[in-house]
Amino acid sequence: MPTTGFWPRVSRCRWCANPVLRDNDGAWIHANLAYVCRDRSGGLAATTAEPEVTRRAD
Ligand SMILES: [Zn+2]
Repeated sequence: MPTTGFWPRVSRCRWCANPVLRDNDGAWIHANLAYVCRDRSGGLAATTAEPEVTRRAD
């Protein structure tokens, strides 16, 4: 099996740390199917799902 690309299939949101994955259009979406991040109190945040950047091991 070749490696399947740069991002793992499920990553973690860099803003809210919830799991994020790609929707059918290739856009990142949270595992709870919301594009917009929510803070701990459940309020909408100003950020949308985006995977955290992981350093490649050298
Ligand atoms: Zn998020």
